[in-house]
Amino acid sequence: MSYTLPGLTYAYDALEPHFDKETMTIHHQRHHQAYVDNLNKAIAGTDAEKETLEHLLRNISKYSAAVRNNGGGHYNHSLFWEILSPQAKTAPEGKLAEEINTVFGNLNELKVQIKQAGLTQFGSGWAWLLVKHNGTLSISATANQDNPLMDTNLTNQGYPILGVDVWEHAYYLKYQNKRADYLDAFWAVLNWAAVEKKYEEVLAKIKL
Ligand code: MN
Repeated sequence: MSYTLPGLTYAYDALEPHFDKETMTIHHQRHHQAYVDNLNKAIAGTDAEKETLEHLLRNISKYSAAVRNNGGGHYNHSLFWEILSPQAKTAPEGKLAEEINTVFGNLNELKVQIKQAGLTQFGSGWAWLLVKHNGTLSISATANQDNPLMDTNLTNQGYPILGVDVWEHAYYLKYQNKRADYLDAFWAVLNWAAVEKKYEEVLAKIKL
């Protein structure tokens, strides 16, 4: 199989003023497209073509750096676009809200910890809210296009349900070096309804 760039469900300028049109356009059409194209090149004619992307990532130690970087890049950006919305639900409800309160105390504390994870990721990477394989919520940061699915990630493996891109290409045009301001703006366009949906899907998948 070969991968294709997923479309966005909103316009490039829909997340203004938090995420600007030019950044969104370049990020989706050039950066994400390049991950898709390079992933397709990396797997062409190999056994990896027959596997799902999730399978590749969960067994990434067996594959090349090109599959790791570009498979991660495609997965991570697909998740990122999915959890953003111009009509964002501003707080989680139900089971996810209860679990956040149990693990972090309250939503604000979760936001503080994700911001801290993003700020302290040196260089390029992502900050995550994930569901560990034992079902508990956790926060982590990973370098480059790695993510919590990867078997190279020994300390905090699981399924990501929220990810924020802290590569400079995600914020430099609007926020320059002010990664903290970008991380604050992220919450205005994060759609908790999409995160709730991912959480339910993961719980169904791991069947605790
Ligand atoms: Mn990116």
